[in-house]
Amino acid sequence: MLYDNPDAFLICAFKRDNALCEPDAGTTAPRQYACQQGCGNTVRTDTHARQLRKRAIEIEQLAAHSPGPVGKRLRLTADKLRAIADAHDFTAQTAEALT
Ligand code: SF4
Repeated sequence: MLYDNPDAFLICAFKRDNALCEPDAGTTAPRQYACQQGCGNTVRTDTHARQLRKRAIEIEQLAAHSPGPVGKRLRLTADKLRAIADAHDFTAQTAEALT
């Protein structure tokens, strides 16, 4: 079962045994609000990668107008989002290659 999770910039290909969001036993749906980076159920498209980069730019704009520690934390968040997008771009496979 696939679940769109736009807040996390991904699609969740939910398999309960792999889920890092700790769904209740026997459940058939993820706890998307508790989505965890690095979960094996994550699927990202090129569109998600572009959205991650766009969000990183928005966060950096906020950082430019934020005081020192807050700005630093925002820049780290932007860097993390870009790293996720980079990882996608580096490992992406075409739909044809997956079938
Ligand atoms: S952690 Fe995220 S990707 Fe993994 S099962 Fe939960 S919602 Fe899906």
